[in-house]
Amino acid sequence: MTPEIDYANATHPFLDGAPKRMLIGGQWVAAASGKTFETRNPATGDLLAVVPEGDREDIDRAVAAARAAFEGPWRRMKPDERAALMHALADVLDAHYDELAWLDTLDMGSPIRHTRGSRRHLVGLMRYFAGQATAIHGLTAETSLNGDMFAATLKEPVGVVGAIIPWNGPLWATVFKTAPVLATGCTLVLKPAEDAPLTPLRFAELALQAGVPPGVINVVTGFGAGAGAALAEHPGVDKLSFTGSVGTGQQIVRASAGNLKRLSLELGGKSPHILFDDADVQRAAQSAAMGVFANAGQICSAGTRVFVQRGIYDEVVEAMARAGAALRVGAGTDPTSDIGPLVSPRQMARVLGYVDSARDEGARLVSGGARLDGPAHAQGNFVAPTVFADVRDPMRIAREEIFGPVASVMPYDDLDEVVRRANDSPFGLGAGVWTRDIGRAHAMAKRLQSGSVWVNCYNQMDPSMPFGGVKQSGYGRESGAQQLDEYLNVKGLWIQHD
Ligand code: NAD
Repeated sequence: MTPEIDYANATHPFLDGAPKRMLIGGQWVAAASGKTFETRNPATGDLLAVVPEGDREDIDRAVAAARAAFEGPWRRMKPDERAALMHALADVLDAHYDELAWLDTLDMGSPIRHTRGSRRHLVGLMRYFAGQATAIHGLTAETSLNGDMFAATLKEPVGVVGAIIPWNGPLWATVFKTAPVLATGCTLVLKPAEDAPLTPLRFAELALQAGVPPGVINVVTGFGAGAGAALAEHPGVDKLSFTGSVGTGQQIVRASAGNLKRLSLELGGKSPHILFDDADVQRAAQSAAMGVFANAGQICSAGTRVFVQRGIYDEVVEAMARAGAALRVGAGTDPTSDIGPLVSPRQMARVLGYVDSARDEGARLVSGGARLDGPAHAQGNFVAPTVFADVRDPMRIAREEIFGPVASVMPYDDLDEVVRRANDSPFGLGAGVWTRDIGRAHAMAKRLQSGSVWVNCYNQMDPSMPFGGVKQSGYGRESGAQQLDEYLNVKGLWIQHD
């Protein structure tokens, strides 16, 4: 049964007032140290829950539980049985989707309209990977050796997977990290972000209910320097899948060196969104605006560098400012809100610091540019959708990831120039192109250095398609069939039979 949610009072049955516990080996436990931390609603500052502050000792216990599960009956479970289990989990996810979305909204602020909107994708992703569980194949090879040789490859699960996720889409990240683990027969220790730990805990509870065996999914809540670092270093972890900032990704690479665990890194971005003058200008400008403002800019692939061909530049700047001003900024729990608050006062201060730097460096503020502090916003971390025009490439707002609703709009003249400038970034996550010229679209798709290119659309995703970055946006891909290989070892098998 899906529990009743009290929408009017912004509560959730999971937030019953009792301290939360974390999941290790199928048991709900406090941190070994007894320490806890608070998680708050970023729209109101209200306390939502008190959560265990897991640390090294808890990670040790969780990794041991994941190892025991990996070597236990889970290891002998057949692919079709894992697939059936994943479909059962997808059913539970579907049935409880609204309450999970609500928990995401309460804990990290994203509008309920936005969090509810991912149902089809996330339930679909779980089902897509359920299908992949029965599609794990090795191959045979005709070797050139003397004698009769049977040569083949076997695919085997890597083992215990650690996953560390950010706060900007807790349910999204939890499902993305869990699905390939279950499909390949690995086990998981998940470390949620300290700013948004609640949805991963509730998801894990539902996974147990769906029949995922104890120890297959473990969740240790805590901070990066404690639980996160312990997981990244842990010699019992075979692979680590990380989503977060570049700086933390670099620390994780260093921490993982002890046992050379496999890594996949989904990191930050400063993605270009490029508008040519033959595009449908109003549609392109609307897309460019939402490419930055969606989720209050807290999307890794946000198209924050908007390059506009000079002939349509003024029109696009004006249309983007209008689109930003038309967005309703409010509590995520209000169904009419388009944009919610930033996740924390710290994140808001960071974003407003970038706004100040843009002013100081001479960018032209067209709209927004300030904290919203009227009666409806005073208690939350709300920043108005902001458009800066006449931004120059060396400015900080054009180079660094802001992770807030701040667009940098820049004019350009021709294709070669915009390719050079778009690629002149340490990041390479997403890129958008608006043009009606098919040849130009193909040329741009080939020449842009990024993990995804969207033409006449932006930020589209599907379970069948890979997502990830190049350069400092990381390596490895999530989603799409090829992701499975990142959770599998390939073993060469040689049998001489003459
Ligand atoms: P962050 O790097 O600060 O934190 C991410 C996670 O890492 C958290 O769980 C945190 O506790 C943990 N962590 C922090 N220090 C650690 C350490 N030393 N060792 C191990 N773990 C540690 O990132 P954030 O601020 O939570 O999230 C925003 C960032 O995530 C942005 O840069 C954004 O672009 C990126 N992101 C990328 C993708 C993608 O798919 N490429 C998706 C979402 C977010």
